Amino acid sequence: MEGKKHCEVINMIDSLAKKSAPLNNAAEPDFTKRRNAIKSRYRLAPEVRAVADNIIASFHPHLQEATIAYLLRRGTWKSRGCVVTGKAIAAPEQWRFLSGCDLALIINETVWQVLGDKGREVLLDHELSHFTPPPPTKAAPCAGPSGSMTCRNSARW
Ligand SMILES: [Zn+2]
Repeated sequence: MEGKKHCEVINMIDSLAKKSAPLNNAAEPDFTKRRNAIKSRYRLAPEVRAVADNIIASFHPHLQEATIAYLLRRGTWKSRGCVVTGKAIAAPEQWRFLSGCDLALIINETVWQVLGDKGREVLLDHELSHFTPPPPTKAAPCAGPSGSMTCRNSARW
């Protein structure tokens, strides 16, 4: 009896597996393709870090102990029709564990390239100001550093 039940369960699982077996290839995730697309969209940005380090030392000393990843993002980056200038992200703890970074600051490469030194400082100072300490109060959405541009905001560590 036990053996028969066991056999019925196996058969049931087997038939369910057969029903769902012929997966549509188009629906399968293409991790390699996706990973390559992500790799071509971002690059590590030591030139951003160099400017940010000075701003942190002068205006955001509370961030000196944080490990921050600086990325430049290529290509069109818009949100609701506005160019996104940058995004400040506090990493979830799993990603802190995996990456060793506490925070990430992503800057729009096109915007970075057209800004002069002062503009870059203003943009980074603005983005760094989104890294705010924990006690959670709902942050207001950020209109961004200029009218037609926006920034993806609020990153509480
Ligand atoms: Zn902002």
